[in-house]
Amino acid sequence: MLKIRNLEAGYGKLRVLKRISLHVNPGEIVTLIGANGAGKTTLLYTITGLVRATAGDIILQGREITRERPEKIVAMGCSLVPEGRQVFVTMTVRENLVLGAYVQHKKGNREFMAQLEEVYELFPVLRERRDQLAGTLSGGEQQMLAMGRALMAQPALIMLDEPSTGLAPLIVKNIFAIITKLRAAGNTVLLIEQNAKAALKIADRGYVLETGKIILEGPAEALLANRDVQRAYLGRDLARP
Ligand code: ATP
Repeated sequence: MLKIRNLEAGYGKLRVLKRISLHVNPGEIVTLIGANGAGKTTLLYTITGLVRATAGDIILQGREITRERPEKIVAMGCSLVPEGRQVFVTMTVRENLVLGAYVQHKKGNREFMAQLEEVYELFPVLRERRDQLAGTLSGGEQQMLAMGRALMAQPALIMLDEPSTGLAPLIVKNIFAIITKLRAAGNTVLLIEQNAKAALKIADRGYVLETGKIILEGPAEALLANRDVQRAYLGRDLARP
């Protein structure tokens, strides 16, 4: 689904991503974990064309997207749910969802309604609140709206940037359950998280990013059991019995 080889990117003279290579197979949840400032968001921005790659390549479903424009990349099947949700606060829930379907507008109304129905089934609260202004939704509801909006584009790959940020534990559990449901429905997910434990528990595979480099990769269970990962990212004090 996604293949990244030796990717480099940054801001001006600041080199953030250093020869990143990773892949995501169809139907997988792959998580990328790492501390603040490791470069997780920069990686997602580079995949979506918002940050320019300075070296390497990004292949989506066999097609090179490394130097494509962001809107083209969305149309080619890659949608981002950005950090902080970034819903259109002065528009209603339904209007936000309509905008998410923009790249699919040529497919017509019937397809749009079917996709909207799918999103409402996944997130019943969005149906209940379809006429409410997005800015008045709770944090968890805004996260669901941001995910629903991305799904309206019928992406082959959905990328989530720290969906758990700022949410209460129970809501986080709910969001992660929905991400698992997305996989069950055949979606492919790249999940960026600081909440490494929750992410690794639902993922098939994971990568650990440290100061712009992938330092570890493997099956999610193996990373959960890895002592270095436990010490650095899972908050486990191994000195204690
Ligand atoms: P967090 O978990 O805190 O969101 P992150 O792993 O997503 O962190 P990035 O946001 O990708 O990290 O940031 C990586 C580095 O790039 C940081 O040192 C940051 O200061 C820098 N950076 C990010 N955006 C910009 C920008 N627009 N201009 C200059 N430097 C930036």
